[in-house]
Amino acid sequence: MSILQLTQVCKEYQSGNEIIKVLDNINLELYAGESVALVAPSGTGKSTLLQICATLDAPTSGTVYINRKDTTQLSDDKKSFIRAKDIGFIYQFHNLLPDFTALENVIIPLLIQGIDIKEATARAKHMLNKVKLTNRINSMPKCLSGGEQQRVAIARALVGHPKLILADEPTGNLDPYTAMQIFDLFMKLVVDLDTSLIVATHNLELAQQLQMCITINKCKLEQY
Ligand code: ADP
Ligand code: MG
Repeated sequence: MSILQLTQVCKEYQSGNEIIKVLDNINLELYAGESVALVAPSGTGKSTLLQICATLDAPTSGTVYINRKDTTQLSDDKKSFIRAKDIGFIYQFHNLLPDFTALENVIIPLLIQGIDIKEATARAKHMLNKVKLTNRINSMPKCLSGGEQQRVAIARALVGHPKLILADEPTGNLDPYTAMQIFDLFMKLVVDLDTSLIVATHNLELAQQLQMCITINKCKLEQY
């Protein structure tokens, strides 16, 4: 079953009088359980593409289907609901809400989905246990190391069992050893939950662990 489909997606930004073309006629289809690495130099449109896949940004033209539903026709409220239910997003930096504990950060997306606080707390604790952070659940993000913060972010992205995870250089901020450890843990959880995945990364060693590798070249998507 197709989880994500992009058809003829174009994205342009206007900067003063200039039009900057970032994505040109992108077609991409991702099925349940598939994992894709997106490896391309900085400034080629990786974040733009992931934001469009997440319905956080709209394409200039073209269509984005999530679970075969055309999201480009939906209201912002409907898109927010799809994001809360079906999509987990992990960023390189500033992943967590700074004024909430690790546990609260993982609970919040479940509350947005309408799950009651008791069940949300139990599920968040279970997921934080899976990322081996049981002893840090009441810590504030600023008291956690970069690697611990990314583990909280992984728990938060996976706790609602989304069909699709979009990760934008999730280990780009970590030393190579921590990056590898966290990526291994992340991949194990993704496989266990049968979640589809697109990861933007510069780390070829990590990229090779995924089923497919794509790149952006001259605004077009290519197999790597
Ligand atoms: P990457 O994630 O691969 O580094 P980005 O998707 O962030 O690339 O950016 C791709 C291109 O689009 C860059 O040239 C960037 O300057 C431009 N860009 C991104 N966001 C905007 C924006 N909001 N307004 C204008 N240009 C943008
Ligand atoms: Mg980027």
